[in-house]
Amino acid sequence: MPQSVSTPVDAAPASARAGKSRKVPRIVILGGGTVGLYTARRLRKRLGRREAAIVVVDPNPYMTYAPFLPEAAAGSIDARNVVAPHRRALKGVDVLQGKVSQINHSERTVQITPEEGEPYWVTYDHLVVGLGSVARTLPIPGLAEQGIGFKTVEEAIAVRNHILNRIDVASSTWDPELRQRMLTFVFVGGGFAGIEALAEIEDIARYTVRHYKQIEQSELRFVLVEGSPRILPEVSEELGGYTLEQLRKRNIEIHLSTFLNSCVDGHVVLSNKMEFDAETIVWTAGVKANPVLQKSDLPLDQLGRVTVNAKLQVVDAEGHVVPDAYAAGDCAAVPDLYNPGKFCPPNAQHALREGNHLGDNLARVLRSAELTDYKHKNIGAVASLGMYKGVAQMFGKIKVRGFLAWVLHRTYHVFAMPTVNRKLRIMAGWTGSVLLRREVVSLGALHDPRAEFRAASVPAKPRVVEAEQKAASLPSIKAEAGSPAEKASKTAS
Ligand SMILES: Cc1cc2nc3c(=O)[nH]c(=O)nc-3n(C[C@H](O)[C@H](O)[C@H](O)COP(=O)(O)OP(=O)(O)OC[C@H]3O[C@@H](n4cnc5c(N)ncnc54)[C@H](O)[C@@H]3O)c2cc1C
Repeated sequence: MPQSVSTPVDAAPASARAGKSRKVPRIVILGGGTVGLYTARRLRKRLGRREAAIVVVDPNPYMTYAPFLPEAAAGSIDARNVVAPHRRALKGVDVLQGKVSQINHSERTVQITPEEGEPYWVTYDHLVVGLGSVARTLPIPGLAEQGIGFKTVEEAIAVRNHILNRIDVASSTWDPELRQRMLTFVFVGGGFAGIEALAEIEDIARYTVRHYKQIEQSELRFVLVEGSPRILPEVSEELGGYTLEQLRKRNIEIHLSTFLNSCVDGHVVLSNKMEFDAETIVWTAGVKANPVLQKSDLPLDQLGRVTVNAKLQVVDAEGHVVPDAYAAGDCAAVPDLYNPGKFCPPNAQHALREGNHLGDNLARVLRSAELTDYKHKNIGAVASLGMYKGVAQMFGKIKVRGFLAWVLHRTYHVFAMPTVNRKLRIMAGWTGSVLLRREVVSLGALHDPRAEFRAASVPAKPRVVEAEQKAASLPSIKAEAGSPAEKASKTAS
């Protein structure tokens, strides 16, 4: 039985709990990301503990504010500050650390698989699905072995450390081919996440190289591979074109209408016949709904998203409401009431507001009030392209570039970042970077912290082991009177 749940959470098979009634309705929220965290906080604000018990399930003990991952990778924000710890941010909410592995909504139960130990089942009265998305990958030879995603804080830290480490190692490597391979960085996917990650990391890499006498700026090679004919589909063609121009001015190689065909052992082959070696391949080519939803009895659309109506209630293919089930964010097909026939794009701007709306709607359900529609007109898109550089499009028409867009990006996202604690830490970090310059050290050893200890460890001596084994087996040898061992020992004496 997990310790973190103060309200008892049933951990028996679903069939054993049929008909069990609860004094306080239990709302189980799957995923403690943007949707999960905002729904839980809003619910707790609206409902007292005697009105509802709220349980959030997530394998991580924190929510990640993904729009800040590129800045975390660039070192402009301390990686710890782009996450909001659940235990602090979710006061009055029970947190279960584990992965949801099955959803049986017809029985009102979910199966949770903890990091260690046996899976167990949790019952509920109302279910919120905020399981987000995972990287949408393709079966490209070498990708699984060579590539890294850019969706989690762990990946952002790993990409940063890896790139700074390659610069460090290349500076002491005289083999030109090896150096070129180490200093070639490939990003696949030209959407918001990919462009921001590429631009921020290229910026910090060039800044870092200024401190290395042995590496020329011209040796750094950044390559963007994008399957469609343009980048940043989230903004107008004009702003996308401007961004393209800015990135090209920074000597970033951009291949549009091009696909990654293979990258076995770091040998990159593109669909435009170009071939080169690279030790870094970052995959940012889109997302798909969390595949664990396939292990549920909830209705899904062709893209694997939970189908919902504008009230964020789960609905089946005919539009009938599935009672007691709600979903939002990247894992749900939420109708966009401002663009009839379309769905809200998978972004934090919507996920955060959908979370708040869902919290309000569920509170209404428990108070038998009317639910309201989720309706949000996109306020625009802001992207950071490195220190003091950015691009933004506000309210569809206002296009902003350069320093002002960069300020807008930071201002918008720091306000959207959950908890005052994190907002203040991020702003303090930014002030520190202005005064003390950016941090460029790579802590590569973090990824194998035991390496040095392993190397320093004295291996156990085989003779000692042998002697111990002999001592352990002695009684059984003695017991076998007349055995070759006994005869040998007699002869010896
Ligand atoms: C690099 C990057 C940059 C981005 N930049 C922007 C931007 O500038 N502007 C913008 O609006 N959007 C941006 N986005 C998109 C935005 O972050 C997402 O759309 C938003 O976070 C979606 O919220 P969500 O709650 O649906 O999913 P998430 O916030 O991803 O939350 C899903 C949660 O589910 C948990 N989970 C996963 N599997 C399980 C399981 N089996 N059981 C239990 N829990 C599980 C995860 O740990 C996670 O906490 C960016 C995304 C990335 C990756």
